[in-house]
Amino acid sequence: MTNTAKPRLFDTHCHLDFEPFQPDVRWHWQQACDASVSRLLIPSVGISNWGAVQELTTIAPQQLYYALGFHPYFLNTDCPEMSCSERMAFLEERLAISDENCVAIGECGLDAIVDVSPALQEAILIAQLSIAQHAGLPIILHSRKTQSRLLQLIKRHKFTRGGVLHAFSGSEQQAQAFIQLGFKIGIGGVITYPRAAKTRRTVARLPLESLVLETDAPDMPLCGLQGQANHPKYLPLVLQTLAQLKTCDVTDIAAHLWLNSHQVFGIDAD
Ligand SMILES: [Zn+2]
Repeated sequence: MTNTAKPRLFDTHCHLDFEPFQPDVRWHWQQACDASVSRLLIPSVGISNWGAVQELTTIAPQQLYYALGFHPYFLNTDCPEMSCSERMAFLEERLAISDENCVAIGECGLDAIVDVSPALQEAILIAQLSIAQHAGLPIILHSRKTQSRLLQLIKRHKFTRGGVLHAFSGSEQQAQAFIQLGFKIGIGGVITYPRAAKTRRTVARLPLESLVLETDAPDMPLCGLQGQANHPKYLPLVLQTLAQLKTCDVTDIAAHLWLNSHQVFGIDAD
């Protein structure tokens, strides 16, 4: 028997504070709600937007969550004059006064494409791993051509809180290695592109218990929607593609993803 009720969805990675959603962010959030997105996590990129992401969650405190951290891509533009230890002092201070809607550290990670020194990226990441470990928080990981190095660092620094490997694309072996370390795999619009054959095959084989959905809006537009800002209202299209790849019923798969998303961030799935 197929359940006809619309499944509730959790967009685990959406930059709702970014320019395309301003100034009428409430209207955009309502559009997402109308498309069955019932919960959404807003990751931050650095000191410059921590206040904004926290403030946004007050629009719908039972539905919107946030993460605090330093994104590798923005290290040259977000308070570049600060040393690593100064940045971490700010993060610890901010965490101490954050509310219960702050459920992760991130987004953080390593980016091999951006013009930011790898040594600085690693120092900032390692320091965030330590803060997350002590705070008992999961991390949201950004990776561009850096998955093996991320795995090495997570193991070497004995980070055990898990989190989400965001915007996954890659091999089954690497995905499994992250799953072994307690990570969920963030599945986004990339799987809607037929040319992403390797990632689609990998995702089809990964256990449902290890997956969460995300849009990364306004980035990562879906296939057929290139050239416009991505939006959390498109999350059901990612779900549909995932259900096709896994030959599963959409409602069943959505129920698993809903639970996985709450579990990884320690939120009650009511
Ligand atoms: Zn992001």
